[in-house]
Amino acid sequence: MGLRTPQQYVDSLKDGRSVYYRGEPVADVTTHPVIKKAVHHACLDYEMAEDPATRELSIVQEGGDVYSRYYKIPASTDDLLKRSQLIEAATALGKTLVVLVKEIGTDALFALHRVARDMDRKYESDYLQRVQAFYRHCRDNDLTISVAQTDVKGDRSQGPLTQPHPDYYTRIVERRADGIVVRGAKIHTSCTTNTNELIVLPTRAMSEGDADYALAFAIPVNTPGVKLVASPYGGAPKAEFDAPLSADRKMMETITIFDDVFVPWDRVFMAGEHDFAGAMALGFVEYHRFTAVSYKLPLVDALIGSALLMADLNGIARAAHVRDKLIWLISYAETLRALTDMAAIRGRADEAGIYAPDALTTNMAKYHFAHNYHEALQHVQDIAGGMLVTGPGVEDFANPDTGDLLRKYLGGRAGIDGELRTRAMNMVSDLTTGDFGGYHAVLAIHAEGSLEAEKLMISRAYDSRRTLEYAKKLAGLA
Ligand SMILES: Cc1cc2nc3c(=O)[nH]c(=O)nc-3n(C[C@H](O)[C@H](O)[C@H](O)COP(=O)(O)OP(=O)(O)OC[C@H]3O[C@@H](n4cnc5c(N)ncnc54)[C@H](O)[C@@H]3O)c2cc1C
Repeated sequence: MGLRTPQQYVDSLKDGRSVYYRGEPVADVTTHPVIKKAVHHACLDYEMAEDPATRELSIVQEGGDVYSRYYKIPASTDDLLKRSQLIEAATALGKTLVVLVKEIGTDALFALHRVARDMDRKYESDYLQRVQAFYRHCRDNDLTISVAQTDVKGDRSQGPLTQPHPDYYTRIVERRADGIVVRGAKIHTSCTTNTNELIVLPTRAMSEGDADYALAFAIPVNTPGVKLVASPYGGAPKAEFDAPLSADRKMMETITIFDDVFVPWDRVFMAGEHDFAGAMALGFVEYHRFTAVSYKLPLVDALIGSALLMADLNGIARAAHVRDKLIWLISYAETLRALTDMAAIRGRADEAGIYAPDALTTNMAKYHFAHNYHEALQHVQDIAGGMLVTGPGVEDFANPDTGDLLRKYLGGRAGIDGELRTRAMNMVSDLTTGDFGGYHAVLAIHAEGSLEAEKLMISRAYDSRRTLEYAKKLAGLA
C-alpha cells in the first residue's frame, strides 16, 4: 500500500464503529450532519499529499517507499523542523484548526519506540518489535490515528487505587493467553469519530500497586466494546458569511469508553510495567507539545492579521495605543515562532538516533503561548470593537429593506462599506468569540496539558546547577 486518496480515507470510516451523538447512535460518520464536517476537515491531510503545491512537504520518498511525512521518525533536527513546517502549513490551510489525524498518533508512536526499547532491556520483553510492526502497519496503509491519554481521573488529588471507584483510570481487568481485557474511559479524545486507529497511553506515573493501570495499547476504532460519545460542542450549523472559519471546519472530541475491550498481545505495548508509565506519559507529551506549538503558529498569525485588518478598516491604524497593541501581538507571536524553531534546533537524539525536540524550549513555547493567549484576545477584540458580538446576519444584507442601510451605516474608513466590514468582523468574531473562539481559548489552556504541567516540565528540564554555580562564583563562595 502507498498513500491513500481522500476518498479512500472517507470510505475507510464506514466500518461499524460505535459512535453516539446527542444520545443517538451514528450509523455513518461520513454522512452525519455534524461529524461529516470533521471528516471533510481531515481530508485536508490527504489533499495536501496530492496537491503539487504541498506534496513535497507532505510526503517522504525513501528508496521505493513513499509515505506521509508525519510518519517520518525524526533522524535529525531538520526532520523536526520539516515536521513543524508541515503541521503549520496544514493548520493554515485548515483556517487555524489543526488537522491532527496523523500528528498526535505519530507523536505517540515516536515515544513508544523510545520507551519500548528501555522496557525490553529491563524486562526482556518484545515490546519494540510490536511497536515497530504497528508503526509499519499505520505508515504503509496511510492510516489516521487518535491518542487517548487523558483519563477521566475522578478526584484529581487521588491516584487510581484511592478513587471512589476503581475505573477512573483505564485498567486491565483480565489477562488471557491471547491478550488483555481493558475497562475504563478516556476523555477529550480528539478526532476519534474519524480516525482508523486509537493508541491508548497512561496519563501519569504509576506506583507498584497501580500495575494494572500501567497500560499502553493500540486498537482499530471499530473494536467491539469501544463506545465513542461525541461532544456536541460547536455542532450548530453556520453560514459561511457569519462564521467564515468554522462553517466548514471542525474537530470532534469524544469520551472514549472501553467497555471490557479485548486487545491481542501484539497490540499491547505496556501491561503492568508501572516503572515506565511516567516515562511513557512524558515521552508522548515531549513530542505532542512540539506539535502543539507548531499548530499554534497560524492562530497567532491570524490574531496579528486580524488586529491589522480591523485597525485599518476602523481607521485607527495610526493611533498610538493601536501601535502599542500591535507591537505586543507581534512580539507574542514571533517569540512563539522563535521558540518553536529553537525547540527543533536544540533537539537531541536518543541512542537509537531518534530525535526529540528540546523539552525545556518546547514547554517554554507552550507556556508562553497559553499564558498570554487571553491577553492577545483582549488586544484583538479591543481594536475590532463590540460588533464582534452584535452584528447583523447574512440574511439582513440580502433583504432589500435593510441591506443598503446596513452597507451605509456599518461602514468604516473611506471606501469601506458595511458589508465588507461586517465580513471582516465576522472572521475576527469566529476566531476570538463564539463557540470556535471559545474552543481555541480552552484548547490554548488545556490541550496538551494544562499550564501547571508546562511549568513543572520547565522546572524539571532546566539545569539549575550552571546558574547556581555562577551566582556562587560571583559571590565569592566556594
Ligand atoms: C480541545 C481539547 C482536545 C484534547 N485532545 C486530547 C486528545 O486527543 N487526547 C488526550 O489524551 N487528551 C486530549 N486533551 C486533554 C488535555 O490534555 C487535558 O485537557 C489536559 O491534560 C487537562 O486535563 P483535564 O481536562 O482533565 O483537566 P484537569 O486535569 O482536571 O485540570 C483542571 C485543573 O486542575 C489542576 N489539577 C489537576 N490535577 C491536580 C492535582 N493533582 N493537584 C493540583 N491541581 C491539579 C490542573 O492544573 C488544572 O488547573 C484535549 C483537551 C482539549 C481541551
